[in-house]
Amino acid sequence: MSYQKHHSETVFTQIGNRKEEALKAVSTPIYLSTSYRHNEIGHGNGYDYTRTGNPTRDVFEEAMANLENGDKAFATSSGMSAIQLVFSLFRSGDHVITCRDVYGGSYRYFDLLEQKQGFAFTYWIGSDAHELQKQIKSNTKAIYIETPTNPLMTNIDMTAVSSVAKANNLLFIVDNTVYTPYLQKPIDEGADIVIHSATKYLAGHNDVLAGVVVSKGMELSEELAYIHNSTGSTLSPFDCWLVMRGMKTLPLRMRQHEQNAKQLMEYLESEPLVRNVLYPGKGGMLSFFLKDENRVVPFLRALNVLTFAESLGGVESLITYPATQTHAEIPVDVRNSYGLTNELLRLSVGIEHADDLIQDLKQGFAAVERKNG
Ligand SMILES: *Cc1c(COP(=O)(O)O)cnc(C)c1O
Repeated sequence: MSYQKHHSETVFTQIGNRKEEALKAVSTPIYLSTSYRHNEIGHGNGYDYTRTGNPTRDVFEEAMANLENGDKAFATSSGMSAIQLVFSLFRSGDHVITCRDVYGGSYRYFDLLEQKQGFAFTYWIGSDAHELQKQIKSNTKAIYIETPTNPLMTNIDMTAVSSVAKANNLLFIVDNTVYTPYLQKPIDEGADIVIHSATKYLAGHNDVLAGVVVSKGMELSEELAYIHNSTGSTLSPFDCWLVMRGMKTLPLRMRQHEQNAKQLMEYLESEPLVRNVLYPGKGGMLSFFLKDENRVVPFLRALNVLTFAESLGGVESLITYPATQTHAEIPVDVRNSYGLTNELLRLSVGIEHADDLIQDLKQGFAAVERKNG
């Protein structure tokens, strides 16, 4: 089946179907076997050992390569291991430009690469392609971005970044965790590599840690395949299956996440205790600033439906305090310099009924008012 001919909804829903020929299973089987029998020397069936290739992982990887319009995909044990796989393309002395507002774990890893591996990073504000061009040095190898940025929810113009990357012969890498290929396909806008924390929207149920790298171009894909097999950052067959099972409902979930997020945004914009709401225009993530940092603790304590927890993209609504959770690794003066301040809360809007979510926020704010009133 050629994925390209169908709408995203069909591709997502049919992941794994028509893949198993022996018994024609509709839900793709989980091949736990790590080893595959050869009839004689030189006569295998394409599988030898599961780190190098596994039938269940192949189905997941092929689906991701198709959905992102890439050539190859590599399933990894976490989003961070996907990022590590990509950075294994570079070596000591290389320079990478990234955007200012990135996931805290990525910032921590980049810091580690600087401390231990002789890499250099420049943090670009994310909005000005001319400014981006000025950051390029003779040892620059890549531009790495998240769009929308996290947690400040700004869309970066990927076409503009891509032309700077192409003109300077740099790899353009995009972390597409927040929008997913249902809402955005970075390779179509010039990216060479797409990264996912599949833990988030792709899997969607807060029950599996996984990552994916998708690459465009055969030479790049072969190099990544070599590193993937050499380092062993592969995802287990069962976890591949769990992510695929989640992905079957991604379009349905994403539409509800987005509809709910828009309703919550409208409500939050009318709430007197809220200073500013940040919503990037689509998807299920939004952030907002309280007017008073001292209201954060009592507000979070009062919530009964929204769960105060790290992570995003699951069916349950989660509210996160980036300053001490997802972005705690970023030094406070650096955070403050670009607006990630102590009044900021981030919402991963789930697929519950929007009225219940709004009611929960309302009673949370009312509890804060009572306490301070
Ligand atoms: C969570 C996250 C990661 C890291 O993924 P893990 O699966 O937690 O290792 C990377 N990028 C973004 C944008 C994330 O939200």
